[in-house]
Amino acid sequence: MLEELDKNYVLNTYARNYVNFKSGKNATLFDDKDNSYIDFTSGIGVVSVGHGNKQVADAIYEQASKITHISNLYAIEPQALLAQKIAQLSGLDIATFFANSGAEANEGAIKIARKYGQTKFANKKYKVITLEHSFHGRTITTVRATGQDKFHSVNFSPYPDGFSYNKQINDIYNSIDEETVAVMLELVQGEGGVQPFEKEEIQKLAKFLKEKEILLIVDEVQTGVYRTGEFLASNLYEIEPDIITLAKGLGGGVPIGAVLTTHKDIFSPGDHGSTFGGNFLVTRASLEVLDILDKYKDTGALDEAIIYFESKISAIFEKYPNIFSSKVGLGLMRGLRVKDEETLAAIIKNSFENGVLVLKSGRSTLRLLPVLTITKEEIDEGFKRLDDAISKI
Ligand SMILES: *Cc1c(COP(=O)(O)O)cnc(C)c1O
Repeated sequence: MLEELDKNYVLNTYARNYVNFKSGKNATLFDDKDNSYIDFTSGIGVVSVGHGNKQVADAIYEQASKITHISNLYAIEPQALLAQKIAQLSGLDIATFFANSGAEANEGAIKIARKYGQTKFANKKYKVITLEHSFHGRTITTVRATGQDKFHSVNFSPYPDGFSYNKQINDIYNSIDEETVAVMLELVQGEGGVQPFEKEEIQKLAKFLKEKEILLIVDEVQTGVYRTGEFLASNLYEIEPDIITLAKGLGGGVPIGAVLTTHKDIFSPGDHGSTFGGNFLVTRASLEVLDILDKYKDTGALDEAIIYFESKISAIFEKYPNIFSSKVGLGLMRGLRVKDEETLAAIIKNSFENGVLVLKSGRSTLRLLPVLTITKEEIDEGFKRLDDAISKI
């Protein structure tokens, strides 16, 4: 049995649901008993173009039949093409380093900032300011960058120096000192309650940092790749950060991370690297994902899905004023604040039993991160099941 296998052989780091998924089609999953589930999680923002996507599967098959991996000692055509595509879609004058996850992309971003702080100024700068409720990853450094105390267990100490947290964007101005090299933030805090920052306050901060020659790192591991309706949330906010990180939705399910920077000359050979990063297999798959989503956006279909999804969220929000206190989020990154944690846990449990997968964010936000290519029918069915699940509370 899967549950027994998992408990006996896999290290115990996740509070898991025991279901044995066997196949998927776009935003619908099927388990071993042929039960269907509408997926409003997309594997936490990863499966951007849906489960079982044929165009991506064909590309992976074709690539895997030729070369999956050769190492970064040689140039890799799909990697170079993907870097070009990312630059084109971002509208920024950037170059990319490929990693394998969000945390690793953020590690790369911090290394860029540290080298910039070491080499561009007379006095060394190395401090990075992040925000409370942020999430930047699980490595020792990125967990330190994460502004949530619950992640800073003494079990894993000591942590690297040079990170501090601010409550609000406005507090950053007073926290900057002579040694501050960068500010790192998410434009919508994915794990911290799906709360978008105000465009004006972000633009004001971006301008201020540029004048002070302090780098702006935008962690778009969750917001990137059309999640907010534009290729980058930075595009939506009309800012040009020095460094942007991507991961989750970029590969549509293959593990890939990316660090994009306008400081194209910052690294020299030997400064940074990865064995797997940007290999043939993942970059070929990611090229296909971006091709699909680029067209999907161009035809207006993404905007239609966002508008339709939003109308369904508004309807359910208005139907249960005793359960929900507010609506938050952008694009297909949405949240409903639930009045207490126990009710949220009950909604998530009932939803799962009712065949719709949903997520939690922060302490009390019901988070919905659907497949970007979700159909109207899947949205209807998912909200019907969610409504049923809530009505049972
Ligand atoms: C998920 C996430 C990460 C970490 O990504 P991993 O691939 O799990 O390492 C970092 N930053 C943000 C904003 C995320 O949502």
